[in-house]
Amino acid sequence: MRRVLILGGTAEARALAADLAGRGVHVVSSLAGRVSNPRLPVGEVREGGFGGPDGLAAWLAAERIDALVDATHPFAARMTASAAEAAARTGVPLLVLRRPGWREGPGDAWRRVPSLHEAAARLAEVAARPSEDATRPSEASARPGGGGTVRVFLTTGRRSLPVFTGLPGVWLLARSVEPPEPPVPDNVRVLLDRGPYTVEGERALIRDHRLDVLVTKDSGGPMTTAKLVAARELGLPVIMVDRPPLPAGVRLVESAAEAAAWAQG
Ligand code: NAP
Repeated sequence: MRRVLILGGTAEARALAADLAGRGVHVVSSLAGRVSNPRLPVGEVREGGFGGPDGLAAWLAAERIDALVDATHPFAARMTASAAEAAARTGVPLLVLRRPGWREGPGDAWRRVPSLHEAAARLAEVAARPSEDATRPSEASARPGGGGTVRVFLTTGRRSLPVFTGLPGVWLLARSVEPPEPPVPDNVRVLLDRGPYTVEGERALIRDHRLDVLVTKDSGGPMTTAKLVAARELGLPVIMVDRPPLPAGVRLVESAAEAAAWAQG
């Protein structure tokens, strides 16, 4: 029986596991083990890190894996690099499955930045010059919330919180699945929640908390797009953190169906 390892933690990985199991492939899904109550895929599941590329290479050999699909989140860059290295070393064929990124459309006011640190730098500029629009550094257009503290809707994940907490003049509504490491500073309100979200709910959140700007990362996918629609409707600027680049030479598909066809062999 063909044996496929899926590096998971995403909806696409679960869809792929179900598809391959239905095709008679033996699937092992791997989760990082960070979420306390994860949504589980069908089939065999293992949890926890492998111990870098060396550990993963050893695991692939010991478990006689025929094909490896990296279906991790687009921002799980360490796991993706580790998978590429282990695959190259062992000769196990590797495919990366990544949902497409989000695209700016009419009515959106996005500023793309290459990293979380750049997003924080942009916020610091807006807080220092409140007349500035978060998406247009050189134009003096009015920030939606007016003067005073910049009120930020932050959805970049709990581990990114320290990048943003020290910014003067910035208040954060930080939404995450799991609580961030304590202590949480006074200028942060944590909202624990897990998608999918509705446009109506996101609109209410933005209004109720009088939010001025959304900071998010280009995760893509339908589960969390509602905030972008609500931001567009309410004229809220968005600072969008771009995805980290993929390792050179890896093969990429954007749907679980394409990955299933490849992994079936
Ligand atoms: P990361 O920084 O790339 O991974 C850090 C380490 O965690 C890896 O080096 C690996 O440890 C272990 N790891 C990560 N994914 C794993 C997996 N699927 N199976 C086994 N070990 C894994 O990744 P991350 O950003 O912490 O994300 C962790 C997991 O959460 C990913 O699987 C991802 O799909 C999921 N997730 C991430 C995000 C996000 O925004 N980053 C959002 C939703 C879901 P070793 O080096 O010891 O092997």
